[in-house]
Amino acid sequence: MPENLSPEISENLDAPAADDAAELLFTDLNLDARVLAALTDVGYEKPSPIQAATIPVLLEGRDVVGLAQTGTGKTAAFAVPALSKMAELADINGVSKNTQVLVLAPTRELALQVAEAFTSYARHMDGFTVLPVYGGSPYGPQLAGLRRGAQVVVGTPGRVIDHISKGSLDLSALEYVVLDEADEMLRMGFAEDVEQILSSTPAEKQVALFSATMPPAIRRIAKKYLNDPAEIAVKGKTTTGTNTRQRYLQVMGPHKLDAMTRILEVEDYDGIIAFVRTKMATEDLADKLRSRGFSAAAINGDIPQQQRERTVEALREGKIDILVATDVAARGLDVERISLVVNYDIPHDTESYVHRIGRTGRAGRSGDAILFMTPREKYLLRSIEKATRQPVEQMQLPSSESINELRLNKFAEKITKTLASEDVAAFRDLIASYEQEHNVPAAEIAAALAVMAQGSNPLLVKDIPVAPAGQRERSEGRKDAFGSRGPTRTLTEGNATYRIAVGRRQRVMPGSIVGAIANEGGLSSSQIGGIDIRADHTLVELPAELSKDQWRALSKTRIGGELIHLELDKGRKPNRERPAGEFKKPFKKEFSKDSKDFKKRDGDTRFSSDSARKPRSGKAAGAGLGRSNAQSDQW
Ligand code: ADP
Ligand code: MG
Repeated sequence: MPENLSPEISENLDAPAADDAAELLFTDLNLDARVLAALTDVGYEKPSPIQAATIPVLLEGRDVVGLAQTGTGKTAAFAVPALSKMAELADINGVSKNTQVLVLAPTRELALQVAEAFTSYARHMDGFTVLPVYGGSPYGPQLAGLRRGAQVVVGTPGRVIDHISKGSLDLSALEYVVLDEADEMLRMGFAEDVEQILSSTPAEKQVALFSATMPPAIRRIAKKYLNDPAEIAVKGKTTTGTNTRQRYLQVMGPHKLDAMTRILEVEDYDGIIAFVRTKMATEDLADKLRSRGFSAAAINGDIPQQQRERTVEALREGKIDILVATDVAARGLDVERISLVVNYDIPHDTESYVHRIGRTGRAGRSGDAILFMTPREKYLLRSIEKATRQPVEQMQLPSSESINELRLNKFAEKITKTLASEDVAAFRDLIASYEQEHNVPAAEIAAALAVMAQGSNPLLVKDIPVAPAGQRERSEGRKDAFGSRGPTRTLTEGNATYRIAVGRRQRVMPGSIVGAIANEGGLSSSQIGGIDIRADHTLVELPAELSKDQWRALSKTRIGGELIHLELDKGRKPNRERPAGEFKKPFKKEFSKDSKDFKKRDGDTRFSSDSARKPRSGKAAGAGLGRSNAQSDQW
């Protein structure tokens, strides 16, 4: 630990003001010629604002706290000056194989990405090695790599600690430590690990800390481990970058897949990431998209590292177009061709949302972000707009007519193309003889063949409702609509009415029912439809097909201490006395509580070292809706 600690981080920018530095060129920054040549090779024309402000300060040898959003070029901001110095030192002292630079990153993907960036900026430097080390992959190659010597080690905190304690990572010659995505590292529960690593590095070293936000815990770490750092913030930039258009689509859970398909049909896109909440959902959605003819693949924390890397590479190369990912698996992913982010399941908090949509609009390109939400989730929009300082426009689902017209045109096009490019002679004779033998007009035969060609995917689509049936009817002014939310009411397709053994007498609220069912049954709140609380029982609309595990979990679920005894409702007469919309109010109340949670999670409270560890323990921390699955998704 450095001894000459400065008590405060300088609050004022004593580095060149990041926003004024736009006109600087890399050649103005006193960088080594080999590094400059590499930057030209990778096509960087001029430094980004954070680079222009940070590089001179780091070259000078000063510690830095860099605050800038994702996609602003932070990697080069810390990698370029380090490499430039190493190149020049190697000229004087000869190439040293000692580990001189250690970069800590929150996830494997990020560590790999940073390592790749280092490698590309160092392409003209001789005898230079970067080694990524991260958990979940065998020690062997990492140990061999460390034995051979790597000047730069990029790793996730857990694995770096392992190597330090095994004695395989020698940090005695370390000159420079970078904490990349520091806030994310803390959010993932790495605070103690990071501190432990920092404490086991030599006192005389340079430290750079990069973060998108500056919660108190980061400030504390900076104060404790950095020496009079220059705090460089790129201001005046919206968190999402103005080149990403944000839209939301109101759609109910069971219709999301159709909505997604329609969007894919009409939107112009290059690469896409669709975010879902659980690992299982990544596989499920990727499968469904594939069966509808799209090239999609899943990435999540359970998929072996190598396969995940291959998948990301396939996306980068255009071999697949759609990546279905969990938040954690896609964190920091930098694939330039991603032009659309679909928030298929709603994110846990605004911060995840900002990270998600940061996957598009990379490297100055424009991007699109679409958020699927149920009418009930609409309250989240305001927090998102606040966090991104940008409006989220409502989008309309492409209409059935326009989709059908498109599909019919495409089908006709296919016929034209086939006639033009394929030899159809053999089939022509077959059809001609069929026409004669069966006395069926050619158009009929062609139609039958078209049905065969189309297979099980219907050619034409039907309308998709945007709100649950009950809500639609209510808004259309049908007085008894919600009052008749029993079995007679139209259910959303794929749903069924269930009965649980708690009701008004047990003082249950819709919110606690949604919470319990979502958490215990692993359902997302959007999969839970109407809730009709009766005197001593409640009718709930849930997916008709619950898995065995969900049944088992839900049969043990209690609300207010009482077992809910979930069963399919056998259809009793709906209670028509109760005024319509009675339970709409409590619903709203409960959800606005959750809305606070949404905001709270965006604040700094979770950064205390205690709460920061929570996400790593499998069990969900709070009673947040449907969070339990996603929480265990961390890796
Ligand atoms: P951050 O870490 O801030 O999220 P990255 O370092 O991942 O950002 O950079 C985002 C993207 O911008 C990467 O694709 C990177 O190659 C590119 N990039 C970085 N610096 C420049 C530059 N000066 N000119 C052009 N592109 C750049
Ligand atoms: Mg980064």
